[in-house]
Amino acid sequence: MKFNTKLLHGGFGPEKTTGSTLTPIYQVSAFAQESAEQLEKVFNNKAPGYAYTRISNPTVAAFENRMNTLEKGVGAVACSSGMAAVTMSLLNILEAGDEIICSAGLFGGTIDLFGDLAAFGIKTKFVKHVTKEEIAPIINSKTKAVFAELIGNPNLEIVDIKSVADLAHENGAVFILDSTTATPYLINPFDYGADIVVHSTSKYINGGGNSISGVIIDSGNFKWDYDKFKGLAEYKKFGKFAYIAKLRNGIWRNVGGCLAPMNAFMNSVGLETLGLRMERCCHNALKLAEFFESCEGIEVNYPALKASPFYDLCQKELGGKGGAILTIRAGSKERAFKLINGLKLATNATNIGDTRTLVIHPASTIYAHGSEEQKINAGVFGDTIRISVGIEDASDLIEDFKQSIEKL
Ligand SMILES: *Cc1c(COP(=O)(O)O)cnc(C)c1O
Repeated sequence: MKFNTKLLHGGFGPEKTTGSTLTPIYQVSAFAQESAEQLEKVFNNKAPGYAYTRISNPTVAAFENRMNTLEKGVGAVACSSGMAAVTMSLLNILEAGDEIICSAGLFGGTIDLFGDLAAFGIKTKFVKHVTKEEIAPIINSKTKAVFAELIGNPNLEIVDIKSVADLAHENGAVFILDSTTATPYLINPFDYGADIVVHSTSKYINGGGNSISGVIIDSGNFKWDYDKFKGLAEYKKFGKFAYIAKLRNGIWRNVGGCLAPMNAFMNSVGLETLGLRMERCCHNALKLAEFFESCEGIEVNYPALKASPFYDLCQKELGGKGGAILTIRAGSKERAFKLINGLKLATNATNIGDTRTLVIHPASTIYAHGSEEQKINAGVFGDTIRISVGIEDASDLIEDFKQSIEKL
C-alpha cells in the first residue's frame, strides 16, 4: 500500500462486533471479565483482553496500531503527551550513571527534561549538531542513547540518520529519534537505521490542534546487550519485542502517563488526512519561503531551499520536501513583534502542526528561560519568528505576510 491508502486501510478494519468503521471511543476505566479465571489470564498477559484503561484500551490500541503500521515498527505505546513519550522512551532503558548524547538544538521541553534527569544520575552531553564527527569523540561505554530530532524544531536541522545510527550501534548505544516534525509522510526513520521513534502526536498526527498526546514506536532491530541494558534482561524472552514489552509492563504503566480514549480517537480521525495535510503544508511552506527570499530585510531558513545547509539531506532523506515549519529573521525584536502584530490570518500561538498557520516569537516565549548559548544552538535569535505553516491557500498566506512586512 502507498502512504495515503495505508492511512485508511493499513493495520485496521471495521470493528468486528458492530461494523463501526472507526474504533469507537471506549470511554471507560475498567473492563469486566466473565470469571475470576479469565481476569487472571488477562492480567498476566495469558489471554487477549482489557482490564483497565491505564494499561490498555481498545480506542487507544487502535491508534497505536495505526502508528505502528505507518512507522513499520514491531509495537507502539501511546502516551499522555509528547513529553511523556520522550521521557518514557529513555527511562525504559536508563539508570543512574548512564549518559545520553543529544543535539543542543532540541525542542525546549526536551532540553529541560534532560536537566531534570541529572537529579537521577543521568548525564546528558550536548553536541552542536548531531553528526558522526561531533559524536565520535564523546561517545563511550556509558552512553546508552543518542537522541535527536528530525526536522529540528526550531533550528530545522536535518540529521544524517544512517551515519549517526551506525556510530551509535558500533558503541552499543540505541538511536532514538523524535520525528514529530517530519512525520511518517516525509520519512520512516527505521529505514535509515533509527531504533526507536517518538512523536508528539499533538502536532501533525492529530492535525487539528485539539488533543495533547505522544507515541513511542520500536523498530525491533536493536541488538540489546543484556549486560549493558540490565533492566531488559528480564524481557530477553520477548526477543525483538523486549523493549516494547518492558515499556508496556514497566515504567510506562507504573508512571501512568497513558493516553485518554477520547484523545486517541481524535488522533485516529486526524491521522486519516495526514498525507493530504502534509502535502499541502509542505507546498505552502516552500511558496512562503521563496516569497521571503525575495523580501529585503528578511532572512529565511527552510531546509528545502537551495541556500539551506541541509538542502542535500532534505533531498536524500525527505524526498526534497522541507516540512511545514520555517523561521525568518526580521532584523530586530521590535520589527519581529510588529510583523507578528500586523498579520491578519496567521495566529500568534505556541503550537505547530495545526491546520491554521501559527506564528511565534520564540526568544520571548518558548525559549524565554533558555541561556544565550541554548538559544543560539536552537537557531533562536532576538529577531526570529517561527512559522508553522497551515493548509490555507498559499496566495492568501503570502498576501498576509506581504501586507505586514510592508507596514514595517
Ligand atoms: C511539541 C513537541 C514535543 C512535546 O510534545 P507535547 O505533546 O507538547 O508534550 C516534543 N518534541 C517536539 C519536536 C515537539 O515539537
